[in-house]
Amino acid sequence: MMDYPLTISTVMRYGTTVFGDKEVVTCAGDEPARRRSYAAVGERAARLANALRSLGVDGDQRVATFMWNNAEHLEAYLAIPSMGAVLHTLNLRLSPEQVGYIATHAGDYAVIVDASLIPLFANVLPLAETIKHVIVSGPADAAALGALTGQGREVHSYEELLAGARDTFDWPDLDERSAAAMCYTSGTTGLPKGVAYSHRSSYLHSMAVCTANALGASEQDRIMPIVPQFHANAWGLPYAAMMSGADLVMPDRFMIPAAVVKLIETEKVTMGAGVPTIWQGMLAHLRAHGGDVSSLRTLVCGGSALPEAVMRAYADEFGITMTHAWGMTELSPLGSVAREPVGVTGEAVWPYRASQGRLICGVEGRLTGDDGQVLPSDGKAVGELECRGPWITASYYLDDAPEKFHDGWLRTGDVGTLDAEGFIRLTDRAKDVIKSGGEWISSMELENLIMAHPAVAEAAVIGVPDDRWGERPLAAVVLRPDAEATPDELRAYLADRIPRWQLPERWTFVDEVPKTSVGKFKKTTLRDQYAAGTLAVTKLGALPH
Ligand code: AMP
Repeated sequence: MMDYPLTISTVMRYGTTVFGDKEVVTCAGDEPARRRSYAAVGERAARLANALRSLGVDGDQRVATFMWNNAEHLEAYLAIPSMGAVLHTLNLRLSPEQVGYIATHAGDYAVIVDASLIPLFANVLPLAETIKHVIVSGPADAAALGALTGQGREVHSYEELLAGARDTFDWPDLDERSAAAMCYTSGTTGLPKGVAYSHRSSYLHSMAVCTANALGASEQDRIMPIVPQFHANAWGLPYAAMMSGADLVMPDRFMIPAAVVKLIETEKVTMGAGVPTIWQGMLAHLRAHGGDVSSLRTLVCGGSALPEAVMRAYADEFGITMTHAWGMTELSPLGSVAREPVGVTGEAVWPYRASQGRLICGVEGRLTGDDGQVLPSDGKAVGELECRGPWITASYYLDDAPEKFHDGWLRTGDVGTLDAEGFIRLTDRAKDVIKSGGEWISSMELENLIMAHPAVAEAAVIGVPDDRWGERPLAAVVLRPDAEATPDELRAYLADRIPRWQLPERWTFVDEVPKTSVGKFKKTTLRDQYAAGTLAVTKLGALPH
């Protein structure tokens, strides 16, 4: 067979010609959405590559993006890797200190910044000295641009650069093992770590995303990635869309539930992708205000455990089957997708749909115990999940982190079971498990059960020190608007569903569960608040018999 390199340039060439009349739609709030054909995106990607070349990008320089999900970000996704440089998507939800650290660690040479994010990025620049060129996408006045100037740095307009550049580019032949993109982990603890994706790994991952057992992206689809393009490449969906001819419907910065519902209605979105918080917010909006979401064939949900109650609500109230998936930045990110095996029907589907899913071909998994021994994949043994495969990182960028690898496998830090059919059921992050009297309590299971209570909007459970048991669960609960429930009632509700010794006695009601930059529960903040005594905690007595 031919030794043909698997590169992003191949994906770009295919998508922008064979599917040249497909489109990327960018939401513009109350204005009409912006529409651009894939053919036009291809031409603009060539212009962008020429422009970057003229600014000195001639090798594997890191070209960063600080952008929302939109057409220009898609152009950067195609042009930067295809010209041989490395696309580095910066997370705009992090603090300026963190973004500055990450940009410096990666050695970013140039950055494309959305005009709406100039004030934020102006705070990053003094901390990111390697950046020599700032390219502003979108309308910006001179005063705003002035905030970006600095010694040894040039500021450009994206559109002016493109207008002045040639519309064809001599795309180089690239080694498929060279770096195409990089992304830093969101780092709930410790410093963020860089993961560099190769052309080959991105290509194979995108193909896997398109397979029917995974997300099954096809020409029939209009895909709306709410998951940011800076979070693990929007789960590979932009490249998967180019490969499959699916249209892309981008939310830009308009991600409140009302805007998302309107986008689904007007653009006839077939597949949305986002973290649970997004779909929980949309559910509350649909219940309160209604909306036509009948074009959806599925809502893909990952990044954190999707409560079964939310999946059931979408199915029962709106006829939408949600697709729960698991992954991580280190896995490009897709690892597993939850669909019941063929023949499973009725109530029996839920344990499958609510699981983290079946590993997809290309991602091998195993469980290991405390001392590193491999445990059986029998659906019973609980251990840390380890993975290996062609789109799983083998190291971190300029960071040895030997504790993250084990004999050629990546230690995911996720704890749970794996069964003979390849289904993962996570119970916790390794650092979040609660050990009470020597026995494990799953914080995720408790959270899911509490979130199934009709009065509860959100719940996070952490382990807190306990004199008698070592550790006990503390439940932090956000009630739905206008709903009421006491800790006693919530505990009584749980009492029918889990062993009594696992029932939390400590409860606190909060306005919001603290979240990380990518919408995961930030349990470290809750732990700090508990330790500092700033949470109003109710401690219940022993349960009456
Ligand atoms: P990130 O690298 O930011 O995508 O975070 C990856 C981590 O998110 C995983 O290691 C899991 O702990 C968590 N995660 C992702 N998807 C799920 C899911 N479906 N259920 C539970 N946890 C998840």
